[in-house]
Amino acid sequence: MENRTYTADAEPGETVTVAGWVHEVRDLGGIAFLILRDTTGRIQVKFEKDEMDDELVETGLGVARESVVSVTGDVEEEPRAPTGVEITPETVDVIAPADTELPLDPSGKVDAELSTRLDNRTLDLRGEESKAIFEIRGETLRAARDAFREADATEINTPKIVATGTEGGTELFPITYFGREAFMNQSPQLFKQLVAGSGLERVFEIGPIFRAEEHNTPRHLNEATSIDFEGAFCDASEAMDVCEQVVASVYESVAENCESQLEALDLAAEFEPPERPFPRISYEEAIERINATGELDEQLVWGDDLPTEGEKALGADVGGHYFITDWPSEIKPFYIKDHDDDPELSTGFDLMHPRMELVSGGQREHRYEQLIEGFQQQGLDPEAFEYYTSMFKYGMPPHAGWAIGGERLVMTMLELSNIREAVLFPRDRQRLSP
Ligand code: ATP
Ligand code: MG
Repeated sequence: MENRTYTADAEPGETVTVAGWVHEVRDLGGIAFLILRDTTGRIQVKFEKDEMDDELVETGLGVARESVVSVTGDVEEEPRAPTGVEITPETVDVIAPADTELPLDPSGKVDAELSTRLDNRTLDLRGEESKAIFEIRGETLRAARDAFREADATEINTPKIVATGTEGGTELFPITYFGREAFMNQSPQLFKQLVAGSGLERVFEIGPIFRAEEHNTPRHLNEATSIDFEGAFCDASEAMDVCEQVVASVYESVAENCESQLEALDLAAEFEPPERPFPRISYEEAIERINATGELDEQLVWGDDLPTEGEKALGADVGGHYFITDWPSEIKPFYIKDHDDDPELSTGFDLMHPRMELVSGGQREHRYEQLIEGFQQQGLDPEAFEYYTSMFKYGMPPHAGWAIGGERLVMTMLELSNIREAVLFPRDRQRLSP
């Protein structure tokens, strides 16, 4: 829009045109106010009924909340106005009127159920808190990209329609691809490895992953955003270094650049980047410490996956982000490399937030023979993965990497109780539109 001024930039002494949504109309009798909201904030528009054209007053005060209007007028200092300035209007244009009945109250004065909010996301995002979450989500991805650049990684994009899954069949969404069976990709795992093994060496991808998770939980989506890294000539420890750096940079950037958003979410006072270095606890120590908390009915034994309750107990015990390293080979996928001196022990690691898993990673099996064996041990047919395995015959360097769940990163950082709060249009068992 030509000659438009953001409300935050309106200075006393200027004549401006502002445009946005009607946040509120307050009629005090002889004087009335229209509060106009745009992406930068709000501004007060003052109507002195006796001194103004009737038509102008009628238009300005008769407009329904959340209608889109533009107002042209003089900006004056007014210490009693919320932003210290107000506009005396010359013209008010109603650009797009809103119904008087709204499915939810964007001002947040009336709470709405999450499902109502998700069904009416456009209105919901006009509220300060929802808007703040997505501005911070944007900053998170920007900061992650910067951190990857510092780590000399190149951004890549890999296909989301694929012929085979990464980790076996149960969580795959099948689709029909010109009469053939295909799937939505669960993870860029195999593709990012194929690229790390090329001359690009260090790569990252931020993109969707699709998982047919059976259950609705507060931390699972059926379409999520994966932040992936893969580096040639990296071992698990170096991959963890990059991971820690990316997560810490995200927190630091959010702390630095999202002050008002953190305030809107009531987090400004306590928000702090996580303490570094993140402790690296072996799986063996992890199960001992979980058992020692006495929180589980049954003691964990070597080879058990960590139950949610166990993760929470250990998270409370550690009190910050931490890695769990050296998992049993049998509970990590085939592409994770085992320790050379102990085939029972893998180089797989997870990064944990005290509330939940954020990241899985590890060094990869780069030796052709051992890779084929791994497929067979996991009950997968190596022939179906020939496009992947064959490249391991032509000079595949040792490599390692990991994947962060983008929504889980935002969810834990902002203390959101449900992962759906961190997705514009979440996909879950019930939700396919909008
Ligand atoms: P979980 O055990 O918590 O279900 P996972 O071990 O199956 O996760 P990975 O395959 O390790 O998940 O994926 C790497 C990361 O991607 C996870 O640590 C998590 O942050 C994120 N992630 C995986 N599945 C989902 C999902 N369904 N919804 C949201 N994020 C997910
Ligand atoms: Mg995992």
